[in-house]
Amino acid sequence: MQSLKELYKIGVGPSSSHTMGPKKAVELFKNTYKNATKFKVILYGSLALTGKGHLTDYIIGKVLEGYEHEIIFDENMKCEVHPNTFDIFAYKNDELIESWRVYSVGGGTFKVEGKETIEVPHIYKEKNWAEVMACCKEKNIDLYDYVCEVEDEDITEFLYEIWNSMQNTIKSGLSKTGIVPGRLKLQRRAKLIYEKILDNENDSLRRTRLLSSYAYATSEENSCGGTIVTAPTCGASGVLPAVLYYMKNEYGIDDNKIVKSLAVAGVIGNIIKNNASISGAECGCQAEIGTACSMAAGACSYLLGLDIERIENSAETAMEHHLGLTCDPIYGYVQIPCIERNAAAAMRAVDSSMLAIMLEQHTKVSLDMVIETMYETGKDLQSHYRETSEGGLAKKYCRNKYYNREMKE
Ligand code: SF4
Repeated sequence: MQSLKELYKIGVGPSSSHTMGPKKAVELFKNTYKNATKFKVILYGSLALTGKGHLTDYIIGKVLEGYEHEIIFDENMKCEVHPNTFDIFAYKNDELIESWRVYSVGGGTFKVEGKETIEVPHIYKEKNWAEVMACCKEKNIDLYDYVCEVEDEDITEFLYEIWNSMQNTIKSGLSKTGIVPGRLKLQRRAKLIYEKILDNENDSLRRTRLLSSYAYATSEENSCGGTIVTAPTCGASGVLPAVLYYMKNEYGIDDNKIVKSLAVAGVIGNIIKNNASISGAECGCQAEIGTACSMAAGACSYLLGLDIERIENSAETAMEHHLGLTCDPIYGYVQIPCIERNAAAAMRAVDSSMLAIMLEQHTKVSLDMVIETMYETGKDLQSHYRETSEGGLAKKYCRNKYYNREMKE
């Protein structure tokens, strides 16, 4: 597993695999072949099908500004290795200098075919939850100490930076009204939800209001191209910050402890990233929102003072009940179902922790087992349920006048 610095990335939305990953890869390519005068990029698979809505061409165009360049959407090529595949070509005076085949594997991470040296080294020797837990028990340390033992000395400082960025995004999202860019003309709702507290509101309603307004705040910022932290992706960036912000404000937990819980969530996200996938194009929304929910549940349990077994239980429960969740963004925008889904997952994360308090310590299904199941389920999902906008809600909404309120109006 790589450093948590490879999991949590501060960047702009709306998509880590469709904007952040391609942006970084094209930047590196451009800086490697400085003598190039012209570039061509061909997008395949999910990048070709939803790249417009996810702003892939826009972000690549920004990187290549000042150079002659061409961006082509090729929806027909079969992606054998990863659904987020693209080729980049560099030319000098119309002569091809070099080309890379790039896979944007999720969370802003990319791989270049045949150039493994570009990959960031794996610094954790434990490969799954069972090994991490065994290591913690043997050394009698908690998950935060485990992270500190492996990472560089500045990891806590880094996690503080991540936490500050997450809080700033929530505050920014809660302060804004207006329309999210795109054909759907969605109203921003975070501020609205947050401010409409009723006099006779009970605890349960208050909890729903706070968690969902915080999640909406980040997700709306993401959809508008604002600054967010991948946790583990842009599309699912609202879940973890919402739960942590809620715990801080409602449970009075200090920033120091919250930062430690980010390490706990990071370990869970890293294990899923390494043993399965955090890419909606590869394994559906279970890989994005399911992972975010699992990370948030683990962090929440840590903040509630639960032991490592119960942290596992909550993370497992959170993922288990997202199994099979499809990715079907309408018009390819990270808006519907994405924004609301972040709110639902934030609530489920807290519920999973509460359930872990009530259940027996040793449940039948381990976190490693559910992660493996998620990956296999994702591979079994037909491609139109994996970030192509060709199935599910995307298909129903765009092709059926009866259901489409926009068409009716
Ligand atoms: S449906 Fe889920 S995986 Fe797909 S774009 Fe939206 S948040 Fe990402």
